[in-house]
Amino acid sequence: MSDNLARVCRDVVRCERCPRLREWCREVARTKVKRFRDQEYWGRPVPGFGDPRARLLVVGLAPAAHGGNRAGRVFTGDRSGDFLFAGLHRAGFASRPESIGRDDGQELRDCYIAPVARCAPPANKPTPEEMALCREYLTREWALLPDLRAVLVLGRIALDGFLAMLRETGRPVPRGLAFGHGAVHDLGGGVRLFCSFHVSQQNTFTGRLTPRSFDAVLAKVKRHLARG
Ligand code: SF4
Repeated sequence: MSDNLARVCRDVVRCERCPRLREWCREVARTKVKRFRDQEYWGRPVPGFGDPRARLLVVGLAPAAHGGNRAGRVFTGDRSGDFLFAGLHRAGFASRPESIGRDDGQELRDCYIAPVARCAPPANKPTPEEMALCREYLTREWALLPDLRAVLVLGRIALDGFLAMLRETGRPVPRGLAFGHGAVHDLGGGVRLFCSFHVSQQNTFTGRLTPRSFDAVLAKVKRHLARG
């Protein structure tokens, strides 16, 4: 049976491979946080989201406990999502500057977002074993997005997860490929890898990552895509 993005999405949502993460997500969904106590949390693994003809793949870390784990969509309903989608909107990849909920009308254009772990982890830290178990989904999406020309990794852990996925598929990974905000690496076959600090509050509240410095990375992505 041939694979497709809808099947990946369905498999992600049903996944129970990581007992620690599944237990944590359900517990967070049950106990909630005061400001969202009237909302029903998603509480399940969160699938990738975006345009099936995307040329840009954005790779994040994992859903947030009260963001993606509540809303059921990646980078939705939290400050990280606010920052990311505002930037994607300025660059023309998102139809709206905010990401509030699954029914907010948000559409990604030429862009697909996928985290390296699909369940919200305690302290935002999935274990290496959990990320390895989850990599199958990124591998399948990578194979099912035929037009990809650019990959934007948000943070070092996303970079490591993405490169591990590439190695597992047998694709050669250039030597000495290092993380740095604004770094660009050629992956061969016309595909380029772009690195950015993660859009978490730890970076955006401290000024380590600003709208301007994020826009500069997205401008590099757009210049690459414009070259065809
Ligand atoms: S992190 Fe990934 S592999 Fe683990 S339970 Fe969630 S969806 Fe499944």
